[in-house]
Amino acid sequence: MTNDQTHVIVGASVAGAKAAETLREDGFDGRVVLVGTEDERPYERPPLSKDYLRGEAGREKVYVHDEGFYAEHDIELHLGTTATGLDTSSNELELAGGARLRYDRLLLATGSEPRRLAIPGGELDGVLYLRTVGDSDVLRERLDRGGTTVVIGAGWIGAEVAASARQRGLEVTVIEPASVPLERVLGAEVGAIYRDIHTDHGVQMLMGTGVEAFEGDKAVERVRTTDGRVLECDFVVVGVGVQPRIQLATQAGIDVDNGILVDEHLHTSAPGVFAAGDVANAHHPFYGERIRVEHWANALHQGPAAARNMLGHATAYDRLPYFFSDQYEVGMEYSGFAREWDRVVFRGDPATREFIAFWLRGDRVVAGMNVNVWDVSDPIRRLLGERVAVDDRRLADPDIPIDQLVTAPRGGVA
Ligand SMILES: Cc1cc2nc3c(=O)[nH]c(=O)nc-3n(C[C@H](O)[C@H](O)[C@H](O)COP(=O)(O)OP(=O)(O)OC[C@H]3O[C@@H](n4cnc5c(N)ncnc54)[C@H](O)[C@@H]3O)c2cc1C
Repeated sequence: MTNDQTHVIVGASVAGAKAAETLREDGFDGRVVLVGTEDERPYERPPLSKDYLRGEAGREKVYVHDEGFYAEHDIELHLGTTATGLDTSSNELELAGGARLRYDRLLLATGSEPRRLAIPGGELDGVLYLRTVGDSDVLRERLDRGGTTVVIGAGWIGAEVAASARQRGLEVTVIEPASVPLERVLGAEVGAIYRDIHTDHGVQMLMGTGVEAFEGDKAVERVRTTDGRVLECDFVVVGVGVQPRIQLATQAGIDVDNGILVDEHLHTSAPGVFAAGDVANAHHPFYGERIRVEHWANALHQGPAAARNMLGHATAYDRLPYFFSDQYEVGMEYSGFAREWDRVVFRGDPATREFIAFWLRGDRVVAGMNVNVWDVSDPIRRLLGERVAVDDRRLADPDIPIDQLVTAPRGGVA
């Protein structure tokens, strides 16, 4: 080892593990320390609400790296270890138990955690949350037992858990205050397509309704809704969103606001300290504003980008957001980031559940989602990235390849 520097990463999940890998790939031969609260080596969370939850995929499928990877690359992996304090003036990280670790560069990849429902009965047995592989094991065991479940929240986690539970044969009710599932991201029109997909599979979708209380003796037996219904159940799954884990940064005086604030180089307000993944609210050069993305692909790419910047590369992170979801036989990929749009244009008939939806603002596409249509997400991202003006008719025409809209925009030869 020729370099006597120490680079420390807090958070041993996708962003952290990929950052550690990149430090080595890019030739850093100093000390790399990866610290994580969980006892498992870094793993991916998407299967935890899908095939892993249904018992169709084993534990080996979820890991980011083979077991020997960290030792082979001389990455010191400290599992079951929580970083409890950070002193950015002395460049020291404090670990539970009191040990202190000096760093030259530090990456905060502490991710996010489920929001808890603070309502009567919220602490009863059988009120479950899903974030870790352990949570998924507990939930899987419940699915094995069958019965009736109520899912609180029709965001991505709630929708996927509802689908998996239904696929395992349970009776499922979903409660959601918005008018349709996934409304915040997809809007009412496309959210309604997902409502129908769940209804068609036999899920009772109670939209426009909140949850008032969980009731039961020791374990939850009933859910009381804000519109006065009482739903009997064997267990409940709560999926009401996540919040970034910012405690370490806050306590160190690092700037935070809906996550740890970082610039386009993923650098925080403290010298030598970076943040990536779910926890980072990053300035995005393409959008000209800060965005915080709670998706796997963002963690996968931001971790390595932060690592390169820890090595002094000063590379701006400008990848367009991307995520995917699988519910029943319906797979989708969503590219872009749309807070506002004025219409949605469909290519293909949504009723067939094989279509592409484009969200537009003026004559620009701000997001695109391909549903059971594959190998188009790269052209969609090019369409977004080039900010080409398109007209709705051409966008909707399945005979015009999307890449032709990029190269021959509005009025061009198709
Ligand atoms: C069930 C489920 C299904 C999902 N499905 C999809 C999907 O289909 N598509 C998609 O795009 N995204 C999906 N996601 C989201 C995706 O998994 C996350 O965006 C991704 O895990 C973020 O990675 P991360 O490394 O930033 O943080 P996290 O995965 O949250 O990991 C952060 C790690 O840091 C550790 N940590 C926190 N604080 C400390 C500390 N002080 N000291 C030490 N360690 C600490 C935590 O214990 C945790 O292990 C899903 C998430 C879940 C939970």
